[in-house]
Amino acid sequence: MPTYEYRCTDCENDFSLTASMSEYDDGLDSTCPDCGSAHTERRLGSVLVSIGSSDSKEASAGGCCTPGSGCC
Ligand SMILES: [Zn+2]
Repeated sequence: MPTYEYRCTDCENDFSLTASMSEYDDGLDSTCPDCGSAHTERRLGSVLVSIGSSDSKEASAGGCCTPGSGCC
């Protein structure tokens, strides 16, 4: 199941919620577990960054540019 990252704007506590897609569509209860505030916002980006970096690593390791191949 996907994990959704949230931050409380009242106490700046970071927390994550694990829920299925249907539970997320119904509306998650993203109340801050620390102070109970409903003032929370979704955090984005960390998962996408890690996927992108591993992809670029594989691409640069392959190719025809081996020593003696003469293509570059
Ligand atoms: Zn809070």
